[in-house]
Amino acid sequence: MILPTLKDAPSLRGKRVLLRLNLDLPVENGELRDTFRIDSTMKTVDFLREQKAKTIIIGHIGRNPKETLRPVYDYFKKSISITFVETIEEAKESSATLAEGEFLLLENLRSFPGEVTNDQVFAKDLASLADLYVNEAFAVSHREHASIVGVPKLLPSFAGFVFEEEVTQLSKAFSPAHPALLILGGAKFETKTPLIERFLGIADDVYVGGALANDIFHSRGYETGDSLVSNCDISPAILNNPKLHTPSDVLVRIPSGTVEKGADAVLKGEKIVDAGEDSIDDMRALISKAKFVLWNGPLGEYEAGFDAGTIALAQMLAECDAETIIGGGDSLAVVSKLNITERFSFVSTGGGAMLEFLANETLPGIDALQKAFSV
Ligand code: ADP
Ligand code: MG
Repeated sequence: MILPTLKDAPSLRGKRVLLRLNLDLPVENGELRDTFRIDSTMKTVDFLREQKAKTIIIGHIGRNPKETLRPVYDYFKKSISITFVETIEEAKESSATLAEGEFLLLENLRSFPGEVTNDQVFAKDLASLADLYVNEAFAVSHREHASIVGVPKLLPSFAGFVFEEEVTQLSKAFSPAHPALLILGGAKFETKTPLIERFLGIADDVYVGGALANDIFHSRGYETGDSLVSNCDISPAILNNPKLHTPSDVLVRIPSGTVEKGADAVLKGEKIVDAGEDSIDDMRALISKAKFVLWNGPLGEYEAGFDAGTIALAQMLAECDAETIIGGGDSLAVVSKLNITERFSFVSTGGGAMLEFLANETLPGIDALQKAFSV
């Protein structure tokens, strides 16, 4: 893939750079609770400072337009010279007088209505702040928002270092070492259908677990009780594919506690909440013969404490010899507590963006960079 990256950018000294970061971080009592995303992009921030660029950082936080990026500003303040601005007008004034190596941070992009609607006037306002644009927000680049697809139409545009790494690493999944295994959990089957179809072609085995498996059980006519299902139609090409694996047994919540049983033995009123031990053994066998494993999505309802299956899977992958690529917000929420992230070959910062990239080999934000007017 040809992607214009920061390495291709002209001299940045004195140039105003509009830097789109992924600042959608969890906040608790006005402070950042987890700084993994921001820390991973510090190398781009440091690079721009060392190159003596004048950098205007933009990003969004949360879904509520009233949420503020001030906690992110407080965190940045510890390591760089940065000013916080709330409006485009203020940003225009401050960006004109910004010194080399200094930074501005604009308030939550979602507080501006034009961001999510990809309003052209808003994209123009953002572009007017800078001489060039850098997208370092891979995890947001499946969204057709002004800061992702609007601005690159107006400025010379480049992918940041972490963005480039995401594309390089995830692209390995398109021609993996064999046997290649995809393990997919989580929920909302319909959002993962294109990925499953694609990897039934590319990979040797596709293991579908988590709430996704409930949809397959349902399609096979099994009772799924009160389990989470999407009620979507699953094609025979998926259901009857010999590469498809699903949990043989499941952990089921019953009024008196939990019990493990065959996936076809669930009763009305029961709820599947995790993979069973036989299923973990089946996964172990697939993992031990695999040379490449891609994993996204938890195997159970981990927020409710049913995280044993997901933890077992994470540990098997951390210990295996295969190349391992993992991602997904919920999957990483489980993995990061185990302190084993550095034992995977690559950990993607993308959830929805990772899935969409793997299914389509591109994203709206990548297309925009490729089509961008270049210097
Ligand atoms: P990721 O964020 O890692 O990409 P998803 O967003 O697709 O993963 O799915 C995560 C959600 O799936 C979690 O809320 C988790 O509780 C849910 N989940 C997984 N397995 C089950 C299950 N068996 N029953 C109910 N919810 C499940
Ligand atoms: Mg999720």
